[in-house]
Amino acid sequence: MTGIRVPFFRPDIDDADVEAVAASLRSGWLTSGPNVRALEAELSTYCGARFVNAVNSCTAARHLALRAWGIGPGDEVVTSPYTFAATANVIVHTGARPVLADVRQHDFNLDPERVEAAMTPRTRAIIPVHCAGEPCAMDELLALARARRVHVLEDAAHAIGAAYRGRTVGDVGDATAFSFYATKNMTTGEGGALATNDEALSERVRVLTLHGMTKDAWNRYDAGGSWRYDVAEFGFKDNLTDLAAALGRRQLAKLDRLTEARTRLVQRYFVNLRGEEHLALPGFDEANRQAWHLFVVRVREGAPRSRDEVIRELAARGIQTSVHFIPLHYHSAYRKLGYWQEGDFPVAEQLFAGAVSLPLFPAMTEAEVDDVCDALRDVLRGGGRLRS
Ligand SMILES: *Cc1c(COP(=O)(O)O)cnc(C)c1O
Repeated sequence: MTGIRVPFFRPDIDDADVEAVAASLRSGWLTSGPNVRALEAELSTYCGARFVNAVNSCTAARHLALRAWGIGPGDEVVTSPYTFAATANVIVHTGARPVLADVRQHDFNLDPERVEAAMTPRTRAIIPVHCAGEPCAMDELLALARARRVHVLEDAAHAIGAAYRGRTVGDVGDATAFSFYATKNMTTGEGGALATNDEALSERVRVLTLHGMTKDAWNRYDAGGSWRYDVAEFGFKDNLTDLAAALGRRQLAKLDRLTEARTRLVQRYFVNLRGEEHLALPGFDEANRQAWHLFVVRVREGAPRSRDEVIRELAARGIQTSVHFIPLHYHSAYRKLGYWQEGDFPVAEQLFAGAVSLPLFPAMTEAEVDDVCDALRDVLRGGGRLRS
């Protein structure tokens, strides 16, 4: 095993990021306070949603939205099998039943026809996942939801800064959850946010975020604020710290520049790899703006090397890759639910069988993209030192 030549990912943390966190520490206000409020306002301006609740993860944002809508036992929520388990774990936590609908081959996103077929009178929400940062077919999904009066909660963990047909993600469905996890397009280490134009939803999420208290710490300790508060319901503890929000504000300020860097690197990947017979490149809609969180290629069936061999060979050459995603119904916790079996989602299963996520991060150089592509082309043609 050689050393790492091209890492899969590196976060973009500069001196201004470090300074912003240090200033937050020095301010003496460590938990949710002025930086959280400012980040919420800046995210609202950025994505066009009137209300933003900053919370401690994308997972929390989705859990709180489902809870705020009163979704629970007896209800069903439709989502994609081609996602991280966090998307559907929260459905189970509410007591509702996750229902999976297969994806489209070209962009890994929910197929509206499969969603329609999966809906029942018990369906209360649809969770589209904007896989790799390409927006889902929102017009079709919203039409299905409107006709049956169900909510649309976007999992935009990959898609901050993306736009669906001219509308920024965050201002499209009923509510949108963003992730600021360490590897995401902008990061607070751990963190997330819920964006919505529904004031009542945002208010209710705010109460559920902090123990069910009707006044949060900010109001309680604000000059002239009252010490009195009421616990109106059994809430959670999902608030974001001011330290994290201080970092988030700096990250958001440079997000468009980071996304442009990702886009340029992806264009180079396309130029280099277009025409590779053993490889399928990700599809995207020109009418959308992509956030390019990931660049997922697919090793075609019948290629001289399997997906697993490609990953091993690239690793042997110092190139780190990953796989997004292991379909939900392959995981043991989901298998134990007993709802699905292998073969139920043929498109997701076929995509997974060939998927390789190539290195992509804003500070990556074009020479590194070329390196990855040269190695990949060679491996795909059967080159390599490892024997399986
Ligand atoms: C990262 C990720 C999440 C979880 O985000 P957290 O902020 O870690 O909760 C959810 N969905 C998808 C598709 C993700 O990639």
